[in-house]
Parts: sequence; C-alpha cells; structure tokens
Amino acid sequence: MGKAPEEEHPVIAFGWAANDTTGVLSPFKFSRRVTEDEDVRFKILYCGICHTDLHSVKNDWGFSTYPIVPGHEVVGVVTEVGSKVQKYKVGDRVGACGIIGACHTCENCENNLENYCLRMIQTYNNVNYDGTMTYGGYSDHMVANERYIVRIPDNLPLDVAAPLLCAGITTYSPLRYYGLDKPGMKVGVVGLGGLGHVAVKFAKAFGAIVTVISTSPSKKQEAIEVLGADSFLVSSNPEEMQAAMGTSDGIIDTVSAVHALVSLLFLLKSHGKIIIVGGPEKPLELPVFPLIMGRKMVAGSCVGGMKETQEMIDFASKNNITPQIEVIPMDYVNIAMERLAKGDVKYRFVLDVGNTLQAASS
Ligand SMILES: [Zn+2]
Ligand SMILES: [Zn+2]
Repeated sequence: MGKAPEEEHPVIAFGWAANDTTGVLSPFKFSRRVTEDEDVRFKILYCGICHTDLHSVKNDWGFSTYPIVPGHEVVGVVTEVGSKVQKYKVGDRVGACGIIGACHTCENCENNLENYCLRMIQTYNNVNYDGTMTYGGYSDHMVANERYIVRIPDNLPLDVAAPLLCAGITTYSPLRYYGLDKPGMKVGVVGLGGLGHVAVKFAKAFGAIVTVISTSPSKKQEAIEVLGADSFLVSSNPEEMQAAMGTSDGIIDTVSAVHALVSLLFLLKSHGKIIIVGGPEKPLELPVFPLIMGRKMVAGSCVGGMKETQEMIDFASKNNITPQIEVIPMDYVNIAMERLAKGDVKYRFVLDVGNTLQAASS
C-alpha cells in the first residue's frame, strides 16, 4: 500500500501498449513481480493476436483500463522458477493463456474450471490480487503461478502453438463439453477466422462431419481443401440454407460481430445446440419459436480450465492440429490490427516477440 509500482514489482519489463481508444500500440516500459515460490518466469518468444486483443485496445466492450498490454496466446522458454515449483524447470517450453489467477477455493476452481471462477484474473486488462494491473504477452517476459502455465509438447513449433492457447481451447472445450466430440456428429462452424479454422480442425480430429457456414463464398475452396471441412454453406444463400435445415447436431458460432441466430437455429436437428464463443459488442436477438420447436439450445463457452488447456495442447500435438499462421514482427502490430478488423488474415497473426520486440522498441 502506498508503494511505488516498481517497489512492489521490481522486475523491469518491456512491451507494447495501447494508451487510449484509438487502440494504437506503442513501446511501453513497466514492471512485473519477482519470482515467488510457486512462480514460473519465462521469456516470451511468440504471442498470437486474438480478436479479444482488438476489442480490448479499442474498448469495444466498455471495460478497458489503459494502458493495455494485450496478448493471451503466449509461448516461450522458462528462465526462472520459484523454490516450490514442481512441474517446470529452466529451459522448458511453456505457454500462458487467458487466465493468470483464480481463487482456488470455489466450486469451479475445485473442479479445474478456473475459467468460470468469479474471481478469475485475466492475463491482461485485469487487476491482480495485489491491486496491480495485469499485462499480457505483447512483452518480453511473463511471470505466473505454475498452475497457470502449460507445457508445449516438443513436436509443436512454438509459433504454431501460440494460437492454441486461446483459439484452440475456446473451440476444443465446447466441442467436448457439449458432446460434439463423437465420430459422425454433424458439426457446423460459423465464421472462418482465428477461432473457426481451429474449430474445424478439432472437430475433424474428433471424427465429426464438419460444415463451415460463412458469408463469404470465396472461402469455400480453402475450407474444404486446406482445412478439411466436409461441406460449406453460404449463409446468405437461402436455397443452400433451406436445403441444410435440420441437419446439424451442434454449431460452434465464432462470429464476434452482431449477427442473426434465426437461420442457424433452423440448421439444427431437434435437441441441437448453438454454442456462442465470439463476443459481439451488442446483444444478439434470440427468436424463441425455433428454440421451442425442437428443444434446441443456445449456449456459451469461455476458454477452458488449466487442466483442460493442457489436455487440449496434448491432443493437438498427438493429432497434428496446427493453426495456420502469419508470423509478423512487433512493429507490424498496428497494421495487423487494421487487417484483423477487416478479416484480412489467414488465420492468425503471431507476433515474433523473441526476435523483434527489442529492435522495435528501441
Ligand atoms: Zn483470445
Ligand atoms: Zn475460484
């Protein structure tokens, strides 16, 4: 209390931050805590750019506190461990996701669902238990309790692994929880961006029959030939949508802009479900009759607990699930944000933090 931040958190860190709602990022010096007994400190090598980062730097959701250092698809190599750390040692390949803390006493935490803990601490744009702000992975290093660190298997390249830590777990967890992970299930994926393209890969690995539903007919060929989807529906084509009525066991809806649910509800079989994982800035309209007629469900899902996040990474490693990425230098981040806003990326930007942060910040 009353201490200067650098007294409480004496380890200097460098990153890139947005300072206002323009969302423009620029070099930023701050501090992180010393390595405590259960902490792992790691040098950041790569960080994915999630759509949440874009929403956050522009305060689209109305709860941004500046300055913001975004980034919750963070991977790197351990440089220091606290005296009580059991799972990691210096040199290990690790990552951090969207969660950096939770209460560890509530029912959710006891069930390895830190992601639904009411006192969950997000990796950036949130307040630590000691009152200081959390800063994410657009920076040179991070420190976290080992509970919030995952191990990256050796066969997964670190740059490719980064997007799994948000896009991967955000789609893997609902496929599992809502029972869409069985061979032969008919699974729809709405929106073919960072989340959607990984959802296709996980659903296919589970043995599902996957349909991509998109407004862009131009994405059809790639969805099928490159990502492995079984079919493609153009959502603005009434004949195609009509023909697919009542065919889907479940739909993972990754769209983060306001969109209509009604046509998606008609695609569901009885007892089918739409699981929303995107975050539109305004509420969606929920038409009730298509829900009632067929006992359908509209549900949500937010990342996954730490145990499941590790399980997802291990599953991705065993099944060769690798996000499609465009690796970019740190000083390209503002252009990348503009391109992301236009959907102009296949399919995830990954910042080459390890090789380019220092040069871009000096
Ligand atoms: Zn994310
Ligand atoms: Zn809790």
